[in-house]
Amino acid sequence: MIVMKFGGSSVANRAQIEKVRHIVAAAKDRKPVVVSSAHKGVTDALINTAHAAAVGEDDGGTAVIEKQQSVATSLGCDAGLLEPLYAEIRDLLRGIRLVGELSPRSLDYISSFGERMSVRCIADFFAREGLQAQAFDAWDLGFITDGNFGRARPLPGFPERLQAAFAQRVPQGVVPIVTGFVGKNEAGVITTLGRNGSDLTASLVGAALRAEEVQIWSDTNGVMTADPGIVARAKSIPHMRFDEAAELAFFGSRVLHPATLLPAVEQDIVVRVLNTNRPDHPGTAISATPPERDDAFTSVAYKENQTVLTISEPRMFESVGFLAKVFTTLAEHGAVIDMVATSEVSVSVTSHDTAALQSCEPAMREFGDTDLREGMSILAVVGRGIHTTPGIGARVMKALAGAKVNIEMHSFGMASNNISLVVKDGAIARAVPALHDALFEGE
Ligand code: ASP
Ligand code: MG
Repeated sequence: MIVMKFGGSSVANRAQIEKVRHIVAAAKDRKPVVVSSAHKGVTDALINTAHAAAVGEDDGGTAVIEKQQSVATSLGCDAGLLEPLYAEIRDLLRGIRLVGELSPRSLDYISSFGERMSVRCIADFFAREGLQAQAFDAWDLGFITDGNFGRARPLPGFPERLQAAFAQRVPQGVVPIVTGFVGKNEAGVITTLGRNGSDLTASLVGAALRAEEVQIWSDTNGVMTADPGIVARAKSIPHMRFDEAAELAFFGSRVLHPATLLPAVEQDIVVRVLNTNRPDHPGTAISATPPERDDAFTSVAYKENQTVLTISEPRMFESVGFLAKVFTTLAEHGAVIDMVATSEVSVSVTSHDTAALQSCEPAMREFGDTDLREGMSILAVVGRGIHTTPGIGARVMKALAGAKVNIEMHSFGMASNNISLVVKDGAIARAVPALHDALFEGE
């Protein structure tokens, strides 16, 4: 059995869904379980409409329903196929408008419709084209989560629940087309795993069902040495280790949701990143023990819109417990920290959550002077040879200096496979190509 996950651009329209059908049909012997995202743009449209509804400025769902229906019509789906879901969307938006607020719970509820609609259209289309398929909402296949809206995770007993539900509900010879991204809590309330969470659905399902492989189908030739949108010369990486891929996903490489690899690591399942537009391309295989490679670097990734909070206290010198106080305060304000750098007299931390850092600031002033800077990017150079190859730091710094990029902050741990740097958002367009050329094209 294999799990094949198709992202929003892979199921954007009829032409793309045709490609998906050929890819799935060709894998029929491997007993595919398909996990699908919403059609490209539908989740965004749902969320935007819900925010508009909360301030009484929505269109009642007209635009998003038209967007969905145009895909459904192009696939030849019956006009009534999605009518019950459309009615539910209209009702929900009306409710949000009436109460004038959008709670995390309502936001998950409205966000869930994209996947629920796309799987129904795709399965309907496949079946009419002669590929036996059936749509499933993930919760009907045992996908029960905790109640953390916007970042829900499976409850204990998940693998057994999934195995039992698949055995009971998916008929032999039928390809299940399962919603990514969504689940329900024990009380039956809809939850989501977080934006781009369909990758995680796929790896969780794959791990629970002991799949031979989890395939993530997207629109690049696997994981690339840099964002091909900025670096046209970026190359596909044939093999990677789980930890390298995890660093890259975490530090902004857009191809994989950062949590995707955990379930796969636990079950040692190969995750393959593939291109729906070039199904013959081998893409990237991510595993525990890929073939040896002698190059030190794997890829350059970046994450924009980060905020840096710095706390400076000259008397921190030789004091005990300063960092403990700082991190306790961060935790109390729910700030998720990505990068840390310290000197004798200051500590800087980064987060994407500006509001959380702002809310910490008054409490931090008790420990020293504070400085909050928005508009920063984390730049990560990832590779398994980084901590064993002399001269790498010099190459990285030299490349950035050559591109006239100022390094605002820098962190590199013992035995780490990742050099992280902070630069201004505006420097990314210069920094990434310069680093890529210096590291991958030679000097
Ligand atoms: N449709 C969801 C999103 O846009 C989940 C996904 O695409 O993976 O975030
Ligand atoms: Mg996506």
